[in-house]
Amino acid sequence: MASITIVGGGTAGWMTAVLLNQAYNKFGNTVSIQLVESPDVDIVGVGEATVPAIKDFLQAVGIDEAEFIKSTNATIKNGILFKNWCAPTEEGEVHQYMHPFDQERVEKRLDVATSWLLSSRNKSYDDSVSIAKALSDKNLTPKVQQSKSFQSIVPYSYHLDARLFGQFLRKHAIARGVTRVEAHVNNVVAKEGKIVSLSTDKGEITSDLFIDCTGFRALLLSKLEEQENWHSYSDVLLCDKAVTIQTENDTSYAPNPYTISHALSAGWSWKIDLQNRSGNGYVYSSRHISPEQAELEFRKHLGLDEQTKFNHIDMHVGRRRQQWIGNCVAVGLSSGFIEPLESTGLHLIYLAARQFVLHNNFSKTQQSTRDNYNKTMNDTYDELKDFIVLHYVLSDRTDSEFWRDIPKTLDGCELLKSRLSVWKHKVCEYFDVSNSTSHMFSDVSYRYILYGMNYFPELDIPFVEGEFDDVFAYIENRQQQACHHTLSHKEYLNATVHGQSGFVSVSMK
Ligand SMILES: Cc1cc2nc3c(=O)[nH]c(=O)nc-3n(C[C@H](O)[C@H](O)[C@H](O)COP(=O)(O)OP(=O)(O)OC[C@H]3O[C@@H](n4cnc5c(N)ncnc54)[C@H](O)[C@@H]3O)c2cc1C
Repeated sequence: MASITIVGGGTAGWMTAVLLNQAYNKFGNTVSIQLVESPDVDIVGVGEATVPAIKDFLQAVGIDEAEFIKSTNATIKNGILFKNWCAPTEEGEVHQYMHPFDQERVEKRLDVATSWLLSSRNKSYDDSVSIAKALSDKNLTPKVQQSKSFQSIVPYSYHLDARLFGQFLRKHAIARGVTRVEAHVNNVVAKEGKIVSLSTDKGEITSDLFIDCTGFRALLLSKLEEQENWHSYSDVLLCDKAVTIQTENDTSYAPNPYTISHALSAGWSWKIDLQNRSGNGYVYSSRHISPEQAELEFRKHLGLDEQTKFNHIDMHVGRRRQQWIGNCVAVGLSSGFIEPLESTGLHLIYLAARQFVLHNNFSKTQQSTRDNYNKTMNDTYDELKDFIVLHYVLSDRTDSEFWRDIPKTLDGCELLKSRLSVWKHKVCEYFDVSNSTSHMFSDVSYRYILYGMNYFPELDIPFVEGEFDDVFAYIENRQQQACHHTLSHKEYLNATVHGQSGFVSVSMK
């Protein structure tokens, strides 16, 4: 029987274990899978907002949605609300826009974004074209009374407790045959470009394949790196540290069904509401402020007293050029990291684990196959990096050294630069971003950022005033219908966590 050893019991390790076990052992044991986790090294303990593809993962591995929500204190996420990413108006109004997961496709003469650009624009782009934005404004979910597991009227994802998610996956994996080994890896023995064995405090471990999920340390893969394997993004993504804290919410608090990303003086902060508490973090550039200054600014932002203890995290921003070398693949933080502005960490884990299964032929795996895997992952990271840079470079903020340094970062992103010059004269559409291999974010997402950050193209298309009013009246009607029929966040969570079956206890508006 072939054997795979995963080292690391964070979200990456357990997500990978569950997915590989489902892929190889669903119809009987064909591959022996073990996960080694150290009792001495803690997990990073963050990673609590997700993108809709997490639902594909949960369904692929046979996890029940209600069970998952109960076990991880999860809440619904309709998108991300960005605040303060541009300078306030002259009247002092804070700039804000949303990146929801849906967009209405009403194509009258031209696509919906062009219609909006040529219309009177009396509502913002997100308010004009998204159902999820309208739901979020009213603290609603995209679920109706009849929604089955994972079903909804528009796409959604979750906020979840990272530690509880790890424990939940661990239980799921062990129940299905994954072996857990509690041991600390002291040494990695490699020979001729392959890992031969691991020395641990519980003895030696050998395996056909090794998955490195040891976090930023990349304990296993780094043993096989013969040349410089780190591709840094630090010239274009300035944030390299985070300060985090969890805050309790009382039972009367209604959790937001969206993440809040609030730009601060040297980066941005997140607020992620779970059923019982909020996760908060400030991702900042240590080239611009010290950890003490970041903590002080964040404390003030959250209105917390001086006794509050914060957690500080170093972030290695970039990716490994080769994430699969010999018989070892890095998954999770060991493979690379891009700041969590669009909550993509867990998605990258899912993508890597799935790609690994698609590429892996065990001992028969060719170098060209590994090269293809590495290219897929590299392209995905690079595309994502550009998408994150886009959020910053459209800002008109000049109120701190950090924001004044931001425009220079575009010089390191040639593709994004050329796309932006195109989007100055035409609407951003599917074909403009479809040539990328990753497709993590499509034109739908790019448009929310571009138009939310006031980056509008100059169009030269003849139109008559009011020509598109009926498009937006139609969408507004759909928004109202959706708001009328969907469950509030509290209703949905109460029914899912406490309800006996379905939504019997839920009263419709
Ligand atoms: C500030 C911040 C915010 C983030 N926010 C988000 C977000 O909102 N959404 C999202 O999707 N992602 C987010 N991420 C990314 C996400 O947290 C990670 O992708 C995810 O937690 C996976 O981490 P990991 O399992 O790779 O590493 P870790 O959690 O660090 O786990 C490493 C594991 O390796 C084990 N280990 C280490 N050394 C040894 C050894 N010698 N022997 C045996 N075992 C060992 C440890 O015990 C541990 O179990 C964020 C990351 C950061 C830094």
